[in-house]
Amino acid sequence: MYSTMQDVQLTISRILEHGRRVHGASTVTTWTGEPEPQRRTFAEIGDRAARLAHALAEDLGVRQGEPVATLMWNNAEHVEAYFALPSMGAVLHTLNLRLPPEQLAWIVGHAADRVVLVNGSLLPLLAPLLPHLPTVEHVVVSGPGDRSVLDGAAPRVHDYEELIAGRPTAYAWPELDERTAAAMCYTSGTTGDPKGVVYSHRSIYLHSMQVNMAESMGLTDQDTTLVVVPQFHVNAWGLPHATFMTGINMLMPDRFLQPAPLAEMIEREKPTHAAAVPTIWQGLLAEVTAHPRDLSSMKNVTIGGAACPPSLMAAYDRLGVRLVHAWGMTETSPLGTMAHPPAGLSAEEEWPYRVTQGRFPAGVEGRLVGPGGEHLPWDGESAGELEVRGTWIAGAYFGGTGGDPIRPEDKFSEDGWLKTGDVGVISPDGYLTLTDRAKDVIKSGGEWISSVELENALMAHPAVAEAAVVAVPDEKWGERPLATVVLKEGAEADYATLREFLATEGGIAKWQLPERWAIVSAVPKTSVGKFDKKVIRKQYAEGGLDVTRL
Ligand code: AMP
Repeated sequence: MYSTMQDVQLTISRILEHGRRVHGASTVTTWTGEPEPQRRTFAEIGDRAARLAHALAEDLGVRQGEPVATLMWNNAEHVEAYFALPSMGAVLHTLNLRLPPEQLAWIVGHAADRVVLVNGSLLPLLAPLLPHLPTVEHVVVSGPGDRSVLDGAAPRVHDYEELIAGRPTAYAWPELDERTAAAMCYTSGTTGDPKGVVYSHRSIYLHSMQVNMAESMGLTDQDTTLVVVPQFHVNAWGLPHATFMTGINMLMPDRFLQPAPLAEMIEREKPTHAAAVPTIWQGLLAEVTAHPRDLSSMKNVTIGGAACPPSLMAAYDRLGVRLVHAWGMTETSPLGTMAHPPAGLSAEEEWPYRVTQGRFPAGVEGRLVGPGGEHLPWDGESAGELEVRGTWIAGAYFGGTGGDPIRPEDKFSEDGWLKTGDVGVISPDGYLTLTDRAKDVIKSGGEWISSVELENALMAHPAVAEAAVVAVPDEKWGERPLATVVLKEGAEADYATLREFLATEGGIAKWQLPERWAIVSAVPKTSVGKFDKKVIRKQYAEGGLDVTRL
């Protein structure tokens, strides 16, 4: 028997039209570096998204199913593109502006992007790339920036505001199949070429509802979220879509992502929530320690993308800001787990739950797989690779324009689950604790050492700002940990003291303590602000680190 219910397609245009009509007064505020930020209501964003769609379809010939690239910061125009493109049936292709130029060129070619929307401030990045982007025919520039760098460029150049001016503020959005492509994002590609993940209207719609559930971010139109996580990093974790569903106000930092302007933004605009990777929160903490600011509006922060050091969580607790730990990937849209403790616990009892990666929502199933392919119990002890499946989890990668989707064996199980490459345990009550990326685990004499555990313990030392631990080759043990440490400004600590601290305060077993140490001025970061361990391993291999052996 089939149901008797209506079968309405879950499309982005429905989210947009809901947001502009029901939450028309909610706002997107973009930091400009000027005395006043730019403010735009959801109603205005809706009007401008319709105008943009008209311009792209009528002047630039953008068709359904066509990817259109954005090379943009987090700002109102990027939100307009977020809605206009999928609603008109095109595919929003966000480009990671921190990728090396040759990777960006490869990605644009792979997707065969014909149109690029770009912020004026990013033209110095785009202009030298254009000769290597043969598929690009149109460049649409928004916001301040010297346009003359595009003089003589092969593609046609348009000004965003001129292009959309005078167009109708309504668009007859096509009735799309919810399974068609709405957006795409390439993974950072630590090995091999980047891989394209293509989100459907349906996956984004369902994921947005999950973002809005109280067990996830649970925000309403009384909230303002500071969206630090870039719109090119897994759709800013789904926030732009989720906000239009419930009227959450957005505060967008544009290119002002340094700790000082972020602190100023928070003090002045008083967001109640924010989302970003741990390195952003580390930087902000150092900033407000040196130059105190009022962060008290920000009750709740979603932190993920890399393991959150418990010491960081504790430091923000003292500032009255609660960091809520979440795990996800480009392939998981990204919401995979979120660490809200179970009900009825004291603050002390909540702590061990808060530092886990959290629980799966109903839309995501997880399982742990051992080295022999066996499925492991949720007993809090059996460690294996995490595999996931669900309605907003990738089942394949984009095979290039005109190509079939690809399903590499090391990324998908035979029965279609996504192999995450993350290793961890799951407790009987469903809390996931990740110990490492499979490729970052340190295999010492047949035993595994968690690099994340060592890092977390080190970052709890008062003199340590950041610490990254990687496996390095060792004649006797196969691999041993190398600890690279960034000291806080003006702080001092010798290696023996740090090692002792790991053993005593950190509770690290003696055989796991690193004997190789290096003080560094900064931990290298990936394009999305995570520790870049492959760079550290390379620096070590090439003798580029001043290593002391204890
Ligand atoms: P990306 O697709 O670039 O966002 O990277 C996804 C990867 O980031 C995951 O597979 C994890 O290795 C890592 N990651 C994300 N969130 C967390 C977290 N909360 N704790 C530990 N690792 C994380």
